[in-house]
Amino acid sequence: MTPAPRPSMQTGAIVRSQFDTAADLANLDDAERRLLRGPFRSVTVDVPVRMDDGRIEVYRGYRIQHSGVRGPCKGGIRYHPEADHDEVLGLATTMTWKTALADIPFGGAKGGIQVDPRTLSQRELEAVTRSFTGRIALMLGPYRDIPAPDMGTNAQVMAWLLDEYSRRNGYTPAVVTGKPIALGGSLGREEATAQGVVYVMEAFARDDGMALAGSRVVIQGFGNVGAHTGRILHELGARVVAVSDVDGGLHNDRGLDVPALFDHAYRHRRPVAEFPGGDAITNDALWRVPCDWLIPAALGGVICKDAGVVDDLDCKVVVEAANAPTTPIGDKVLESRGIPVLPDFLVNAGGVIVSYFEWAQNLQQHPWTLERVNEELLRKITTAYNAVRQLRQTSGASWRTAAYAIALQRVAEAEHLRGH
Ligand code: NAD
Repeated sequence: MTPAPRPSMQTGAIVRSQFDTAADLANLDDAERRLLRGPFRSVTVDVPVRMDDGRIEVYRGYRIQHSGVRGPCKGGIRYHPEADHDEVLGLATTMTWKTALADIPFGGAKGGIQVDPRTLSQRELEAVTRSFTGRIALMLGPYRDIPAPDMGTNAQVMAWLLDEYSRRNGYTPAVVTGKPIALGGSLGREEATAQGVVYVMEAFARDDGMALAGSRVVIQGFGNVGAHTGRILHELGARVVAVSDVDGGLHNDRGLDVPALFDHAYRHRRPVAEFPGGDAITNDALWRVPCDWLIPAALGGVICKDAGVVDDLDCKVVVEAANAPTTPIGDKVLESRGIPVLPDFLVNAGGVIVSYFEWAQNLQQHPWTLERVNEELLRKITTAYNAVRQLRQTSGASWRTAAYAIALQRVAEAEHLRGH
């Protein structure tokens, strides 16, 4: 639920630049490029809300459906003061590639409201959500467009969205994922993105002869993705040596006591730097901590040339748990330094994969066990990883470009078959 400051290069620009590089490898023609670059449907709405003091406030909201060619549009809703059309479009586009690479029957979408949720009371947060849902309800539906939580939103926000949509259309749990378990949410959804991150790391470690146990891990961001990733890696014997949140970082070369830190920072929402089991460091110093795995799990555009971040990194692999954390120049520098970058829409696909399982459980009204969720998540994400690894080996392309090429080809083929 933490809004974050603006990074140096913005998500939309990063995603557009990556697309252009990959479209060449996938041999897309001009018409295909134009079709896949822009959104299928883009809606901007005013979101009027009566505040606790009686005033009417009007926020700007977006829902952008990038592609629905392989299935209903799918993507989160972000509440952030700087969520704008360009960012939401960039994130919606990434969702199309993510669902295609994971080979789940969805397209890509994203939503956002320009609001800082920390400034709202609980009643105002609910009112914003209901007002926004009313404005975009026509676009939504289990076979049209299925939202989920993103930065600044959570399971409670999804419960209000479900209620508002169901008031208009009858009880429809499959219209939204990331719901509370009591309203049809899936077991394992909360930690699904982190679990997927770790499955990808395990596959990479196996193939590259690295061991996870005993390896050194640095994580930027200790929210849903960062905290659960740290927790699971710690359980597997990895040494998490530094983490950060919006207020600062924490370092302990012998390894942090992650279960206690998880309790302190994730469960009780206290700054990581106030945890007694390490030394407080600045957010900038985090990038220079030597490690095997560097896991950005907070913002877009942070691994960049500015302030020498990308030159200072001292890691063996970058694992992009956040969306678009590496700028195109950052990518080039890492490539020249021989540091592989496992790309966001492969690494963090666990969330949308388990959202797909949640949707399937809702449609069938048949909940799965946690074991089944994790088994099927492992199978889906490892299949995607293996496909990328194989194309990378045969084409010589980077991990990111190989992943894009697979996703673009799948979407282009579906467009072609549907006659576009
Ligand atoms: P979150 O809001 O739960 O946590 C974000 C964390 O980043 C917080 O600890 C926050 O303090 C920290 N942070 C913010 N600014 C920072 C800064 N300048 N320096 C260091 N830390 C900072 O968000 P989340 O759900 O964990 O998402 C994190 C990233 O993962 C985002 O890029 C999101 O788009 C992406 N992602 C999330 C999911 C999911 O299922 N939650 C799925 C796919 C991708």
